[in-house]
Amino acid sequence: MFVSAGDLEKYAYCPLSWWLSKKHKVVSKAGVAHHKNVENELKEIQKKEKKIKFYEKYTLFFSVSASIVAIAGLALLYGEMENFWKYFFIVMSLLWLLNSSFFLYRASKVESILKARYEKLLLISSMGAIIIAFFAILFSYPANASISRFAEILALIWVILANLLFYRTLYMADEIIAKKIKYIPLKGEIEYVGADKEGKEIKSDKYGIRGKPDYIIKIDDDYIPVEEKSSDLMSPTFPHVIQVTAYCMLVEDEYGIAPPYGILKYKNAEFKIPYEERWKKLVLQFREKMLKDIEKGETHRNHNNKRKCNNCVRKEYCPERLL
Ligand code: SF4
Repeated sequence: MFVSAGDLEKYAYCPLSWWLSKKHKVVSKAGVAHHKNVENELKEIQKKEKKIKFYEKYTLFFSVSASIVAIAGLALLYGEMENFWKYFFIVMSLLWLLNSSFFLYRASKVESILKARYEKLLLISSMGAIIIAFFAILFSYPANASISRFAEILALIWVILANLLFYRTLYMADEIIAKKIKYIPLKGEIEYVGADKEGKEIKSDKYGIRGKPDYIIKIDDDYIPVEEKSSDLMSPTFPHVIQVTAYCMLVEDEYGIAPPYGILKYKNAEFKIPYEERWKKLVLQFREKMLKDIEKGETHRNHNNKRKCNNCVRKEYCPERLL
């Protein structure tokens, strides 16, 4: 049976509070508004980042295409080149191909992260060989002024398009940077947004827990769950640490790699909660106790802390509250 991270948080506060929450839902208006705001901003960042990547791709495409077409136009303006340059281009092209074969050989021999680097070099090198061969062929054609003019005009239009897209990208990047740094480091990416109702629930068969972290960010190879709280606390509370640890366990099972920490954010303070064995054990112990309580059909207060009862959102429904 799956136990939710939200229920684990309530249980860690007081088992009876969790029990009463099944009958008496207490919804904090400030909390709902805060989560709605987080959801909207994260979705806007995701949408704009997607658009930026799209514009970047086309900026690169138009710039490279414009350069190739412009040089092709020039080649057709001056016509056939001397034999020396023809051979020069053919030799260069062969050398580049040789270079590509070397990277292909290295890429097949090496393992680990170096493989990806050699593959990238292979791609660049092959592109170089193709471009040189292309120009070698072009320069052997006789001059053609009208095609040359057409190529130069086309190149000019593509350069203008590339510039327009580039400035649009810069403008959008400026717009989202301010919003993004509020939620994640600049080099990070938003991997998942669970703050909204449609957010997919994550389930862990390994730990028997489920839940929706407010969002998950990806920094390098790590996936970090983030829990946003609308309260204005200056240090992490025990139930919130349990909840964040449960999210770390979900992330570990979902992505196959344990996060180094989870993030707990209050209104004016933010904490990295290390993903540690001691918290993990507590999450699993609470889960076991909850299942036993469900089987028994009852649970009780497990503390003598009046302040806790005083701050409890379900005190008005509680038969065991301390006055
Ligand atoms: S009032 Fe006290 S005993 Fe009752 S649920 Fe809340 S914390 Fe637990």
